[in-house]
Amino acid sequence: MTPEEFRTAGHQLIDWIADYRTGLPDRPVQSTVKPGDVTGALPATPPTAPEDLAAVMRDLDEIIVPGLMQVQHPRHTGWFPSNASLASVLGDIASSGIGALGISWQSAPALTELEEVVCDWMRQLTGLSEGWRGVIQDTASTGCLVALLAARERAADYVSERGGLQSLEAPLTVYSSEHAHSATPKAALLAGFGRDNIRSIATDPATHALDPAALRAAIEKDVNEGRRPAAIVVSVGTTATTAVDPLAEIMQIAAGYGIWVHIDAAMAGSALLLPEYRWLVEGIEGFTTPDGFTVPPADSLGWNPHKWMGTILDTSLLYVREPERLIRVMSTNPSFLRNSGAVVATEYRDWGIPLGRRFRALKLWFHLRLDGVEAIRERLRRDLANAQRLARLVTAEPDWTVVAPVSLQTVCIRHTPSGPNGETLDGEALEQHTLAWADALNRSGVGTVTPAKLAGQWMVRISIGVESTEWSDVEAVWTAAKELAAQA
Ligand SMILES: *Cc1c(COP(=O)(O)O)cnc(C)c1O
Repeated sequence: MTPEEFRTAGHQLIDWIADYRTGLPDRPVQSTVKPGDVTGALPATPPTAPEDLAAVMRDLDEIIVPGLMQVQHPRHTGWFPSNASLASVLGDIASSGIGALGISWQSAPALTELEEVVCDWMRQLTGLSEGWRGVIQDTASTGCLVALLAARERAADYVSERGGLQSLEAPLTVYSSEHAHSATPKAALLAGFGRDNIRSIATDPATHALDPAALRAAIEKDVNEGRRPAAIVVSVGTTATTAVDPLAEIMQIAAGYGIWVHIDAAMAGSALLLPEYRWLVEGIEGFTTPDGFTVPPADSLGWNPHKWMGTILDTSLLYVREPERLIRVMSTNPSFLRNSGAVVATEYRDWGIPLGRRFRALKLWFHLRLDGVEAIRERLRRDLANAQRLARLVTAEPDWTVVAPVSLQTVCIRHTPSGPNGETLDGEALEQHTLAWADALNRSGVGTVTPAKLAGQWMVRISIGVESTEWSDVEAVWTAAKELAAQA
């Protein structure tokens, strides 16, 4: 394809994307395809001759888009907001169009330096001190893995430079709440800690946040039995209910043992853009306790602009206090990657796993510059207010309950109707009822919700925050929920 052909095709594709976004409210939110439908609609063998763009776009319309959950739809309230603001889409297109290759500072100086600049802008916008340095990872899962690799090596005095984990006598342990995202135990497994050394800590039954007393007890037990605590992953905004672990208390416990503190704020981190929500990470910079004990800053913080804030996937920020801890574990310096001359610059390949990096910083750069942070903040505040408003309506309705504190934009609800003889539904019958109305709502195409287990019992999450979701959309999902639950 020549640049001139690209120009023509690109205009058509941009028009198509704009039409797709405009038409979203008229589409069902959840796809109705069954496994194999998409495969069955596609040729089994690859094309050998070039086709027209029109043919490709027709397939986009007829096969691909109907085979997707429409997560940019204003009535998508399932999982979490996975916003792809169009300003950041332009940045993504620019990144692809330039086709830069980041493998060293010299391979694309502006790629490295713009990443440093936007990470620092985001640091300022979220109220972190100048002591933090940021990098863009693909996902929070990768960020957590990278943090745990650095934590492991710090705790083991860089044993990978010698015999590695296999030469350690004392097993290294990792802690997180029982509500931590599945990415946390996965990262701990991949970092080699071993299932036996991954602790799932009990939570407060009312707030669903990690119970510091249970954490302290688990750490003491491990230490007494000869194990070496290496890392705690603090959930700021859990997946099920957006519960917020008490960071300062956890940091104080960690400080006594020199444990790495990684904060997983993948979803909730967007709220740090709002000064009134900085309490989510209260203590992150370190503090002195009333009895004069100095608690150092947390070690790492990861969050996803590609969720609620809306800088399209894959844009996950990882901040660390001491980048040299990442570099010591992950640096490589083969001859072909050396910068010529005496260049002293950031080499982001040493801050994570991949060598080649895309120009992801352009997505944040376009998003911040074209949408503006104040507009993004107003949208987040709109979503927070909509969640509170929904929670009030649910609470006021007979037979409906809000089952967890609404700390951010997720409202967890349950419908507990009376059975045929006036008794309140419970046990297995209630479980079936909850799953039935949630499924009916998802199949209706009106909206999406996500059933999840809380304290062993099903509830339904309504996660507000798609860029285009207004109160009327939340209300439409709630109205459908009431109607469908009454029939279920
Ligand atoms: C979404 C989420 C993750 C995983 O994020 P990815 O970027 O998809 O890896 C991890 N932790 C929490 C709390 C999340 O909300």
